[in-house]
Amino acid sequence: MVIRTVILTNNLSPSFPVDELSPILTIDLMALSHNYSALQNKSGKAKLATVVKADAYGLGIENIVPVLMDAGCESFFVATACEADALRNLSPDNDIYIMNGLTCDGTFLADKNLAPCLASGEEVAQWITLCNARNTNLPAAIHIDTGFNRLGICPDDWSFIADQIKASNFIPKLIMSHLACSEHKEHPKNRAQVETFEAARQLFPDVTASLANSGGIFLGTDFHYDLIRAGIALYGSVDFDTADAGLKNVISLHVPILQLRDVKQGETVGYGCDFIAQRDSKIAVLGIGYADGIFRHLGDLNDKPATATVALEGQIMPLIGRVSMDLTTIDVTDFTGSLEKGMMVELIGETIKLADVAQRANSISYEILTRLGTRYKRYYKQYHKTSERP
Ligand SMILES: *Cc1c(COP(=O)(O)O)cnc(C)c1O
Repeated sequence: MVIRTVILTNNLSPSFPVDELSPILTIDLMALSHNYSALQNKSGKAKLATVVKADAYGLGIENIVPVLMDAGCESFFVATACEADALRNLSPDNDIYIMNGLTCDGTFLADKNLAPCLASGEEVAQWITLCNARNTNLPAAIHIDTGFNRLGICPDDWSFIADQIKASNFIPKLIMSHLACSEHKEHPKNRAQVETFEAARQLFPDVTASLANSGGIFLGTDFHYDLIRAGIALYGSVDFDTADAGLKNVISLHVPILQLRDVKQGETVGYGCDFIAQRDSKIAVLGIGYADGIFRHLGDLNDKPATATVALEGQIMPLIGRVSMDLTTIDVTDFTGSLEKGMMVELIGETIKLADVAQRANSISYEILTRLGTRYKRYYKQYHKTSERP
């Protein structure tokens, strides 16, 4: 694979021949590859596995995963068995872990060499039964709860389960747990979870261990263990400090101006008449809305300090009025250049950081990405495998 430049219109009508003015979601695969390497460097001796659940955080596994494989990624994590099955088609030989646990017939997973993260005594018992029936070891992780209280085997069950495993054909491929507060460096929960994880590992001393997600990489080597599960940080702009890692921005979202209008002082814009022009204004109407994952309440922030903004040729402009399903309005009165229909406005990118958009929407980067929707043209920016660059 040398270059991957894929331009997809939405999947509603793949044969639609017209080049319509529509939002363009650009995914910079070179930056993605760079970020994988930068995070691997930051992870020291631990191997960097990647989390590509929810279709690689909404960005498309079929384009994201080959780049990660080229960059050296050998293990992948997804949430569901169905996601794992789809990923197996792209990645015949790599380790694929299912973080939601044993949620379907184990024989299907075993036949496809997919590894569930067993999250209870019951799931471990089912896996042991399968291993014993086939008289072999089958790949699976054991998911330990270290205080998250979401999925994972509780401390009271550890030693009983460890004994059962020792007496069976099943040899866990991985012991894993998940951090609740990794994006807050100073939170005492981080240290407490390491100590609990240490206690669990005593029972499985030779098994590969994994605790850290993206945030965990930046908590220091105590948190790294053997395998890191990185997701959000691959895309550069995150909600926590990654200062010294040199991550690059991967995602940008540009939206065309569909119409420009003059609005007189005192007139209102949009649903609910939420925006009232305080002066004679120039308004641009953008072809994007909450159906495309632009959070509706970004528009509710009018007149409050955290007004959402966009960038037009590098100039910052406020988003005004309510975001509707397919349209959003911005105030371009102060724009200094010439304006015309079709100009592209940056909603996410180098100027308008994903993490800032998330904060303004009272959300997190993860939620913004996974809600972006299907109506974009997706442009997977040129990618050359390092060794094959022209
Ligand atoms: C989503 C998830 C990750 C990846 O988290 P990031 O913060 O995106 O790096 C890792 N482990 C588990 C269990 C997860 O659910």
